[in-house]
Amino acid sequence: MTSRAVLLAHPAGHSLSPAMHDAAFAALGIDARYEAWDVPPDRLASAVDRLRRPDVLGANVTVPHKAAVMDRLDAVAPIAEAIGAVNVIRRDGARLVGENSDAEGFVRSLQESGVVLEGRRVALLGAGGAAHAVAYAAVQAGADALWIVNRTPERARRLAARLAQRLPERLPGRPADGHGRCDVRVAGRPEEAVAADVWVNATSVGMRRDGVDPDERPVPVSVLRTVGAHGSDGVAVDLVYRPRVTPFLEDAASAGLRTVDGTGMLLHQGAVAFEAWTGRPAPVAAMRNALEAALAAQARPAPKERR
Ligand code: NAP
Repeated sequence: MTSRAVLLAHPAGHSLSPAMHDAAFAALGIDARYEAWDVPPDRLASAVDRLRRPDVLGANVTVPHKAAVMDRLDAVAPIAEAIGAVNVIRRDGARLVGENSDAEGFVRSLQESGVVLEGRRVALLGAGGAAHAVAYAAVQAGADALWIVNRTPERARRLAARLAQRLPERLPGRPADGHGRCDVRVAGRPEEAVAADVWVNATSVGMRRDGVDPDERPVPVSVLRTVGAHGSDGVAVDLVYRPRVTPFLEDAASAGLRTVDGTGMLLHQGAVAFEAWTGRPAPVAAMRNALEAALAAQARPAPKERR
């Protein structure tokens, strides 16, 4: 029987996960396929029930179900509980367990680029779902300071309060001697965070979408120039991966910062999910090739219809 991994999303189009995971199953000779299910909110309960069928290895969860799905599972891992979102469901016998692979995907992607968060000062742009994962990853990895900057300051304050309430004792793997070390602040403007040397764009600014200014920036280039002038170890990380090189990364490179694009996190959160479903190390090279091919195909203009 062919097994399956499933994406619960609404809408479900444009996902890069089928390409990445089908390549991983093929590389390891696993008889399985990845299916994207378009699940409106009022069908979430029945979709989760269908995950209990024996042929389902596990699932990804994305907008708009990441928080709502938590109440429908048999257990939620501490990291997902702390972040407040589930993006992976794995089987544990008959039970469905919610996990979050974004924080680990972010950390693995930085490691691959030679960026260590321990002892760094991090400016986090954004306070949405992805920003929650980055904030927890930064604190857990032992960052010295974290500034949260968001268009809606109240959301940044809520994230800072959540960090203070939940960290560090609820996160597995955090070194005991790192207890409470990260200084978390809310900054009203990016200028207040110029002492940071790792800048992470976790807003959707820069993402290619219809009707959105493609030149919009989450932080003025003047701020990045000030950061670049501090020394040679400044880093800019964008979570946006469509396009791969965003205006934020262009500005950062011109200001002398090292840049890391969003495809690494996308790849590694997928690898963490694959490992949770199969119990096997993810074939990262095969997944990366498939992801890059799918991204390149999406970046090409659609062929004109033949008359
Ligand atoms: P979300 O929960 O909707 O949060 C969106 C964030 O962007 C909020 O902080 C929002 O600020 C901010 N924002 C949106 N438009 C803005 C604007 N015009 N000016 C300033 N701030 C703006 O979305 P999310 O799930 O966190 O995703 C954020 C981005 O990360 C998306 O581009 C997503 O594709 C990307 N992402 C990438 C990965 C990866 O693996 N690479 C994983 C997850 C997400 P307000 O609070 O003021 O609305």
